[in-house]
Amino acid sequence: MRCEICILEEKEAKYRCKICGRKVCDEHYIKGLEICKICDMTLCYICRRRFAVAVCAICGRPVCEKDSIRRGLIRICDLCLQQQREEQLRDQQ
Ligand SMILES: [Zn+2]
Ligand SMILES: [Zn+2]
Ligand SMILES: [Zn+2]
Ligand SMILES: [Zn+2]
Repeated sequence: MRCEICILEEKEAKYRCKICGRKVCDEHYIKGLEICKICDMTLCYICRRRFAVAVCAICGRPVCEKDSIRRGLIRICDLCLQQQREEQLRDQQ
């Protein structure tokens, strides 16, 4: 069985992603999460459970609807938002 993500190399698939069911090699599997690299990119980086709906305009990481807020046309993740708030507080002092 070959890894379904490797295109050029032919690596042996040792694991199965619990989200999409792809069979993948060491390199394309995240053991702690039991998912493949492709699903990793589509999941929200904060909760790791919901699919990302957008990319944070500040840090560029994928976030879901619950862990980000919309500001006009862009989305900002909770962590960047928190950081912004802290910076604002610091500026006020
Ligand atoms: Zn692979
Ligand atoms: Zn997957
Ligand atoms: Zn999330
Ligand atoms: Zn962010």
